[in-house]
Amino acid sequence: MEMIRRVTVLGATGSVGASTLDLIGRDPERFPIEALTAGSNVQRLIELALRHRPRFVAIAEEKHFETLKEALAGTGIAFGAGEAAVIEAADRPAGWVMAAIVGAVGLQPTFAAIRRGALVALANKEALVCAGSVMTAEAKRRGAKLLPVDSEHNAIFQVFEDGRRESVEKLVLTASGGPFRTWTAERMAMATPAEAVKHPTWSMGAKISVDSATLMNKGLEVIEAHHLFAIPEDRIEVVIHPQSVLHSLVAYRDGSVLGQLGTPDMRVPISYALAWPERIETPAARLDLAKVGQLTFEMPDPIRFPALDLARRALQIGGAAPTILNAANEVAVYGFLNGRLGFLDIARVVESTLGSVAAPAPASIDEVRAIDAEVRARAGARLAA
Ligand code: NAD
Ligand code: MG
Repeated sequence: MEMIRRVTVLGATGSVGASTLDLIGRDPERFPIEALTAGSNVQRLIELALRHRPRFVAIAEEKHFETLKEALAGTGIAFGAGEAAVIEAADRPAGWVMAAIVGAVGLQPTFAAIRRGALVALANKEALVCAGSVMTAEAKRRGAKLLPVDSEHNAIFQVFEDGRRESVEKLVLTASGGPFRTWTAERMAMATPAEAVKHPTWSMGAKISVDSATLMNKGLEVIEAHHLFAIPEDRIEVVIHPQSVLHSLVAYRDGSVLGQLGTPDMRVPISYALAWPERIETPAARLDLAKVGQLTFEMPDPIRFPALDLARRALQIGGAAPTILNAANEVAVYGFLNGRLGFLDIARVVESTLGSVAAPAPASIDEVRAIDAEVRARAGARLAA
């Protein structure tokens, strides 16, 4: 008998949300849906609700309440609009919750799922980066399990010998290098949002695509790995691997290095989290090594991609620095996407914000949110000036 797992998808209308629902939709009896949420795309949410028949749907933007009401009339699907409704969705009794909202705004709903001890499939890395040990401590206290969805962390999770943590020498995160890996700084200075979101190997939402282009994504992932696996920053390495076939590695003290490979398809790591500790079938293209031909590796260039070291610095500084780094980065990335900042300004805004705001380590999620809000206001004002 296969276990039945009731699931909720936060951020159902996004890229990770779509991959998650693709898998769930292949075995709806095994994965009945409690709730689906979206930020603003009400039409897509309605479509998903009618197809997947969850018990509850929520949309963050309140103005869509009437649209939902009309579309769902007579379906028996309950619904809500506003931030509180999204949190309510996370609160409802699903044993497994996909946290796939983008940005620190996903913190509260993710936390709601953690508080009731759910299995939390974590894609929303910004929530963990900004809340750090506040989140991991809460998960421990409540018996919630964080299942890494980010492909690198999922790879490490698959080969990490939990009972032998003292044997782990280092973690190695692989990075595709993004669309500007071979560009000169002069050319990068002129990069447009359309060029930045055109990722060479993965198809993802706009924000993470820009983060991949600056390598801030890898910086956020170093912080994420530190919290998920309790490994210090100086034992987490990053190596550029443009083919995105080897998803990350754990090096042990005997010289053994274990990694996980596969074609770049998020349905593989998501499926591992969805059925954990079992494995289920996925439609992902199978890896054909002879066809790939070559796997290549190189060191990241800290001059053209300063964001990676900024994230490392934030982790070394500690306290509220990662929260500040993440908030400044979100403001800068959307500033770039809206045409108000150049590509190379993203890291500059993050660096200057990191150097000018100081705060002690947040002790609660309310403190995390207060720091996040203050940094957004300050960095936003700097952008407007
Ligand atoms: P996306 O932009 O495609 O989707 C984001 C989702 O968040 C959407 O459903 C959107 O409606 C929802 N959302 C946005 N603002 C919201 C708000 N204010 N309130 C509630 N919901 C809101 O992003 P994505 O690429 O799916 O990424 C989601 C998360 O997963 C990110 O944290 C990203 O870093 C992480 N991640 C994504 C991938 C990938 O392949 N796309 C891989 C690894 C990690
Ligand atoms: Mg990743």
